[in-house]
Amino acid sequence: MLYLFCGILSGALLAAICAPLFRKEETLESAIIEETEWDLLQRKKEVILGNIQDLDFEYKCGKLSSEDYQKIRAEMNAEAAAVFEQIEKLESSKDLDALIRREISARKDRSTIACPSCGGKNPNTNKFCAECGAELKR
Ligand SMILES: [Zn+2]
Repeated sequence: MLYLFCGILSGALLAAICAPLFRKEETLESAIIEETEWDLLQRKKEVILGNIQDLDFEYKCGKLSSEDYQKIRAEMNAEAAAVFEQIEKLESSKDLDALIRREISARKDRSTIACPSCGGKNPNTNKFCAECGAELKR
């Protein structure tokens, strides 16, 4: 009896320890994927902004003609704008994803099924009517 108790206890303990570990790993993994994409864009942004800074510096030192400077600067500005746009898109799509997932789960909660026997409304997940016990066909 004691052995059985110990076995159950250690099993439950092991499950309690391992369950959050596995869950954490899963969310961590998705976080890493998002972070890589995000980091890549952030790094790109840093590089472009650094290049613009260098360009400005070189122009101030008189290494570039005004014409060259304007041309290269315009190209870099366009590049920076594209990266900013990508970052913005990533941010908004992430928000949108979460929003859609929230809306869908809210819809699932709200959706009901009418009982064919008594017409009572039951949650979509019910197999039998809570009012009369009739089977809910779908
Ligand atoms: Zn019913």
